[in-house]
Amino acid sequence: MPYDTLVVEVGSKSNFFNTPGAAQQAIALDSTAQAENFRLQLMRELVLLNELKPQQPKAKLNIAIVGGGATGVELAAELLEARLGMSFYGLENIKPLEDVLVTLLEGGPRLLPALPEKLSQTARELLQERGVRVETSVRVARVTSEGLYDTQDLFYPAQLCVWAAGIEAPKFLAQLGLAVNRLNQLEVDDKLRTEDAHVYALGDCAHTPWVEEGKEGAEPAFLPARAQVAHQQATYLFKVIAARIKGQSIQSVPFHHVRGMLNSLCPWVRRHEITEFREPISNVRENWIDCVMLFG
Ligand SMILES: Cc1cc2nc3c(=O)[nH]c(=O)nc-3n(C[C@H](O)[C@H](O)[C@H](O)COP(=O)(O)OP(=O)(O)OC[C@H]3O[C@@H](n4cnc5c(N)ncnc54)[C@H](O)[C@@H]3O)c2cc1C
Repeated sequence: MPYDTLVVEVGSKSNFFNTPGAAQQAIALDSTAQAENFRLQLMRELVLLNELKPQQPKAKLNIAIVGGGATGVELAAELLEARLGMSFYGLENIKPLEDVLVTLLEGGPRLLPALPEKLSQTARELLQERGVRVETSVRVARVTSEGLYDTQDLFYPAQLCVWAAGIEAPKFLAQLGLAVNRLNQLEVDDKLRTEDAHVYALGDCAHTPWVEEGKEGAEPAFLPARAQVAHQQATYLFKVIAARIKGQSIQSVPFHHVRGMLNSLCPWVRRHEITEFREPISNVRENWIDCVMLFG
């Protein structure tokens, strides 16, 4: 298909970083099918635990989440919430709050590295208060069907392991003859142009430089792979291309990222816990605000 202007927006998928066993044993959550697979495996493990309990009263279901970014933190919170509903399945031998254990493993020194340190600390405290085992500066070295080993050869038992440790863009992007980074993301400028001025890229598959307001002149950072970023970039490119079609040019205006991030830590994070972090938001439904914890 010939084109005058091409916009590449092919997203990303989980990056297992060649960790032995990860692709085979861990569950990624890139698609609805994978999420459904995780739900079914969770149900299966709960039924198995329920059958095992009469013979082994101390048996537990251990769930490990690799990656303490937004996805891993949200999943840990959602699993805590889900435990409250597990008793409805007639699994009379298990006490979900005691028998289902969630461990969150993060390679860096803190959770939610893209957010200010204060928010990372709060997220960690809230998760730990509610029973999640949070381990930072732990790099997972291999994954087996029984659990995970870190680079110190410490073992973390896990019947279920979810991989949320990072992304990579599709490999074919590295074969287009355009510059990419080590995650196969197309290098773009502040107008979302690749090296070829007729080819734009946006969203997870683009590596977009970003200079935070007030930090002009500093070394540019890069925008995170988030829906908010992709959405804002799509809105920007829509205007650029619409103007181009009309024979106008607004290309001199660079893409401006409006900062913001929502991280759900479940309804049990009540409003008094988020007040300190909440910025004015006028168009969010009241009950939804209760589900929101972090704004960075
Ligand atoms: C579990 C999970 C939770 C997340 N939670 C949040 C969150 O709370 N907040 C947030 O901001 N972000 C979140 N994200 C990240 C967010 O989903 C992505 O940043 C966002 O979807 C990126 O948008 P995109 O358009 O770049 O890519 P995508 O939404 O992935 O869309 C790319 C599309 O391109 C299609 N495609 C791929 N290859 C080709 C090809 N060769 N030809 C044609 N089509 C192709 C894909 O099928 C896909 O439909 C989450 C991601 C995951 C996995």
